[in-house]
Amino acid sequence: MTVLDSYKHELANLDVASLKRTRRIVEGVNGTRIRVGGRDMLAFCGNDYLGLSQHPEVIEASLRGAQRWGVGSTASPLVCGHSASHEALELEIAKFLDLPRALYFHAGYATNVGIVPALVGRGDAIFCDALNHACLIDGARLSRAEIKVYPHADLATLSQQLTESTAPRKLIASDAVFSMDGDIAPVPELLQLAEQHKALLLIDDAHGFGVLGPGGRGSAAHFDLRSPNLLVMGTLSKAAGSAGGFVAGDATLIELLMQRARSYIFATAAPAMVTEALRASLRLIESEDWRRERIRSHAQRLRAAMPASNSASRPYLLPSPTPIQPIIVGENAAALELMAHLWYEGLWVPAIRPPTVPQGTARLRVSLTAAHSDADVDVLIASMARCPVL
Ligand SMILES: *Cc1c(COP(=O)(O)O)cnc(C)c1O
Repeated sequence: MTVLDSYKHELANLDVASLKRTRRIVEGVNGTRIRVGGRDMLAFCGNDYLGLSQHPEVIEASLRGAQRWGVGSTASPLVCGHSASHEALELEIAKFLDLPRALYFHAGYATNVGIVPALVGRGDAIFCDALNHACLIDGARLSRAEIKVYPHADLATLSQQLTESTAPRKLIASDAVFSMDGDIAPVPELLQLAEQHKALLLIDDAHGFGVLGPGGRGSAAHFDLRSPNLLVMGTLSKAAGSAGGFVAGDATLIELLMQRARSYIFATAAPAMVTEALRASLRLIESEDWRRERIRSHAQRLRAAMPASNSASRPYLLPSPTPIQPIIVGENAAALELMAHLWYEGLWVPAIRPPTVPQGTARLRVSLTAAHSDADVDVLIASMARCPVL
């Protein structure tokens, strides 16, 4: 077997397990309609929860940013890539969240893989929810700290792991809203454990920022929490509609992260056309509550029409209070069949398979946004009801 054969073999195995992925080429986007192969698909696949990615004010801000600053930042933030626009965005994020300081990264993924190894290292310990996002897991692995995984939202196990640990630095890391399940972590209890055990709590609010809490201030605001032990990480690629990530909290911690996070130090800063777009998004997130109201009403509409997890029938909806509404199917091939049925009817709802989710829990991940109409949600409900494979 040649070295190439071994990779061919690996790819063939993916195919056999219904785990081979393909990309569909997007030919155009108009709100919730995505053109693919000349066909306008009704999309429930993007994370543009508030419908801001194509908002005229956001686009306008980005264009002005490009005209003023060009389309590239030319260097990393610590060299000459940190513009007055980046600085203003960080101040505005901190003010919005009512936290001492924020640091903006070019991507959400880069935020977590950078900050976790800056906070803990060899000899320290990191405590992770079993359903944490890949970038928290990768950050934990890069850190070389001892990784303790507790079953999803299992506070008793976490408490025991913290009690047993003698590590000098302890970090609890959890998604605030779980990206493939849509449920909200028990953040108040996690914070209480962190304080009790002199640990830091890092929450990944990729799906809560802009969506949960008063004014869209996210999961910490949703629970009305503040503590020097709490670090909030969020992404600006979802509800904020553009790109990037941030971490916000105690000013000493943020300064340390700026000095130490390798993905911050060794990557070119995002272009200011992105930070200008984000500054416009932030204003809309704060001022337009109706966008969050609409997501809530869409979720209620869908949930009223579909079996929930306490019913015996499959597929069923997981109990989620967020825009992420997962329809559990089970087998990989069945999830692909359901996706294909919806696709045939003009709907784009992605099938999510292992390793993104645990074995045997393949699902369709419905993503509801403020840009959807009630009629769009009704189309999804009707198409689900017509599915022959169920
Ligand atoms: C999407 C996501 C990220 C990564 O953010 P990007 O901006 O896409 O790099 C991090 N954490 C969670 C929970 C996510 O869903």
